Amino acid sequence: MGGVACAKIESVQSRRIHRNDRHLDKCAVLREDGPSLRSLSPPRRARVDGRVAGTHRRERASPVTITSESSSTVEDARGASVARAVDLVKVYGSGNAEVRALDRITLDFEREKFVAVMGPSGSGKSTLMHCMAGLDVPTSGHTFIGELEVGKLDDTELTQLRRDRIGFIFQSFNLIPTLTALENIVLPINLAGGTVDQEWLTFLVDQLGIADRLSHHPAEMSGGQQQRTACARAMIRRPELIFADEPTGNLDSNSSSEMLEFLRRSVNEFHQSIVMVTHDARAAAHADRVVFLADGRLVGEIAAPTADMVLEQMKRLGS
Ligand code: ADP
Ligand code: MG
Repeated sequence: MGGVACAKIESVQSRRIHRNDRHLDKCAVLREDGPSLRSLSPPRRARVDGRVAGTHRRERASPVTITSESSSTVEDARGASVARAVDLVKVYGSGNAEVRALDRITLDFEREKFVAVMGPSGSGKSTLMHCMAGLDVPTSGHTFIGELEVGKLDDTELTQLRRDRIGFIFQSFNLIPTLTALENIVLPINLAGGTVDQEWLTFLVDQLGIADRLSHHPAEMSGGQQQRTACARAMIRRPELIFADEPTGNLDSNSSSEMLEFLRRSVNEFHQSIVMVTHDARAAAHADRVVFLADGRLVGEIAAPTADMVLEQMKRLGS
């Protein structure tokens, strides 16, 4: 899976880059109204999209629900969702070798929320993220990023979408080995022909604890440092949506907590929306909602999870 995604990333990088004026407008708004390095401590309540920042926290826990067949239609897939899958199917191979990695998944990711995706190994978590981010093509069904139906975009529009609106933290990092950590982090900006927001860059590398590793190449960094570099790269352009595939998988428990707090804060303060795959119930407890996959199907979800609730549900699902 990592190899496929890596090849796709490289092909995206080799394509000609076009500017996206709508995104540049959004960046201007963020720079004007969003938190600057100085304003982050304590956070300023900026007004973005008509909402006051920093006022929404997780809502109180509600009971575990097992999802039933959804009656959503393609026409519904607009509005407040940052991303949405409708009847998503992904089949790999054919005949005896056929694997149904996603089996009619209908799922809505709300804007400015932190959602964890859990499930046993092979349950389709990475495939779901790759299909939703336009890195893999579903066999059938529809995916939306905001109002855009990903399957209807041409190559240029898809490149723009992935570059401007989505950040992806890959399970296998996908850092470019010949570039330093700093060059990897600013790569999305260099590809888009933009200028680096030095304050934001400094903030990211400080928060992620890699400020003293910026001149190192990936081979000279630990797995955890590479993972944090990949996180900084995903966030450098402040995309509206981050897909993070096991972003704490290579971190010790302290670094893992710091990363999760950073992700939580980027939702609360920077208006990010995050979809994170994790195996760790404590990691999932940082999210607003946890959705559970098994055999390519959506089999349950928990709102405002605690680690205990997640563990109980995992036990129930046998994962
Ligand atoms: P998870 O991330 O939950 O561990 P994946 O999405 O990686 O699961 O995989 C879901 C299923 O699809 C698995 O059975 C896996 O072996 C299969 N799969 C994933 N990628 C490919 C591929 N490129 N070719 C064939 N089968 C694949
Ligand atoms: Mg995976």
